[in-house]
Amino acid sequence: MKKTRNRSGALIDEVAGISQDRKLRLTPIRREILRLMARKNKAVGAYELLADLQKSDPDSKIITVYRALEFLREHGFIHRIESLNAFVVCWHPERKHQAQLIICENCGEVKEVEVPDIADQLDKKAKAAGFTRLSQTIEAHGLCRDCGAG
Ligand SMILES: [Zn+2]
Ligand SMILES: [Zn+2]
Repeated sequence: MKKTRNRSGALIDEVAGISQDRKLRLTPIRREILRLMARKNKAVGAYELLADLQKSDPDSKIITVYRALEFLREHGFIHRIESLNAFVVCWHPERKHQAQLIICENCGEVKEVEVPDIADQLDKKAKAAGFTRLSQTIEAHGLCRDCGAG
């Protein structure tokens, strides 16, 4: 538990540094949402985040959560999981990358892996088919080590 907290603290510091370098406004609400997501470190939906926020500020609104998520996603600090309509924190936000996510269907644990070949191949095929402005997230579903063992 302590380890997770330190890790999420380090991530927030890193994102704050990147934001400063890129002149992005990491407002308190954006920072708080990122912090909540880093501590959970699993797939999380907007309404779950809203419920967390409302523990400290009952007046929090879903639109605020959506706007913060959009900012964080746009700048590569979190990834969107299309198949779950959820989001997950990215642990290496310093460089732009295509996400490949392995998702546990039981507990929502998400593992981000890097398979550059897959991303490149898909990119090539899409370009050959005439597509532009590509973005891609590859999502695989299964059971994590803990859930699969039980
Ligand atoms: Zn990532
Ligand atoms: Zn699991």
